[in-house]
Amino acid sequence: MTHPTSGGPGLPQERRLVTDIPGPRSLERLERKRAFVADGVGTMLPVFVTAAGGGILHDVDGNALIDLGSGIAVTSVGNSAPSVVRRVHEQVDAFTHTCFMITPYDGYVDVCAELAELTPGVHAKKSALFNSGAEAVENAVKIARVATGRDAVAVFDHAYHGRTNLTMAMTAKAMPYKHGFGPFAGEVYRAPMSYPYLDGRSGAQAAAAAIDVLEKQVGAGSLACVVIEPIQGEGGFVVPAPGFLPAISAWCAANGVLFVADEIQTGFCRTGDWFACDHEGVVPDLVTTAKGIAGGLPLAAVTGRAELMDAVHVGGLGGTYGGNPVACAAALGAIEEMHTHDLAARARDIGVLMEKRLGALAAEHPVIGDVRGRGAMMAIELRTPGTGLGGDPEPARAAAVSAWCHAHGVVTLTCGTWGNVFRFLPPLSISDALLEEGLDVVSEAFAATA
Ligand SMILES: *Cc1c(COP(=O)(O)O)cnc(C)c1O
Repeated sequence: MTHPTSGGPGLPQERRLVTDIPGPRSLERLERKRAFVADGVGTMLPVFVTAAGGGILHDVDGNALIDLGSGIAVTSVGNSAPSVVRRVHEQVDAFTHTCFMITPYDGYVDVCAELAELTPGVHAKKSALFNSGAEAVENAVKIARVATGRDAVAVFDHAYHGRTNLTMAMTAKAMPYKHGFGPFAGEVYRAPMSYPYLDGRSGAQAAAAAIDVLEKQVGAGSLACVVIEPIQGEGGFVVPAPGFLPAISAWCAANGVLFVADEIQTGFCRTGDWFACDHEGVVPDLVTTAKGIAGGLPLAAVTGRAELMDAVHVGGLGGTYGGNPVACAAALGAIEEMHTHDLAARARDIGVLMEKRLGALAAEHPVIGDVRGRGAMMAIELRTPGTGLGGDPEPARAAAVSAWCHAHGVVTLTCGTWGNVFRFLPPLSISDALLEEGLDVVSEAFAATA
């Protein structure tokens, strides 16, 4: 059997199943994975990939699957997007590493200039580059502490900020992210999140409740920063009620607390704007980005008000690999793709299509209690119908629907504090036809598991 060796948008955009999923060759490789890869590194859908592009993943058995996850919101511009591939090739041919802290290069500065331009607000901004989202969040906290001279950090229920020691403390969910890994970093406090489907509150009411917790249990004067995902990712694609983010941001400004937007999952066109904060005109003091920034290469950033970013002493920020030249080239290529193809507009169109299809699905299946999200970041939450505000979570049904989709060649992801949220993060390079076919399979999966 021959496998495509090059992916990108040229890969035939069709689902094709020639074996069971996973097929025999993937199962062989899964045995090798079991022998050599730590069990703690799980794999949701063990098909071994050979090429990918557009909205399709090819595997070693010759199957072609529809990708509704983009990794986890990473390959927003599509796998092996042309501008990413071209710039990465050029950079790899020129040089692969110098360490920006030793001898600098243009790509790093170019990415920081792009971030200054694209992130919310027109104030003077500077950035520092890192390797992972968690590392960016850790550094945002470091910067906020130095800039304010305060220690405490506020986060929210259902939050996800990463898996390093500090970010585990900031992440809400114990299993699998924190279980057994303590003790955790101190001075991290949790406030209630606006979760309209479960709390029925307006944005103003939910913000007042969160602010009350922060004022009474932490004290505004102790807080260096509030760190919030403008739409929560792993926590269940929770979209706060309108007015919640502006109210929290205004309270922060009035109290000398830095408002840090964790846009690692929502950033770079995913929600139909360059950044999710743009939707309500919220201007964060610091923004963390990663995932969609570089077409799949590891890169992350903290971008913020120049005077805050410059509060840290020389040598206080950095890392061996942060802002690797190849990753920077990929980011410049990804940003070029976003401009050239107006991917924010594409995300909005994908959102309209998904909202219509998921709304129709919810009308058919009362277990779907909520359809929410924005742009190409949509989710459905599964709850026992008629059991009060929200009802009981239905993680088993979410798992069954997921398994059915996987077996039928559609890569879907779940999330949520209760594991009962089905989320959709298609690459913005997917065609309408392929997206519709993927959603047809999801619809069949609900019928088949009823
Ligand atoms: C994925 C994610 C992180 C962590 O990013 P890593 O690159 O996995 O360290 C942090 N915050 C949010 C909102 C995320 O979605």
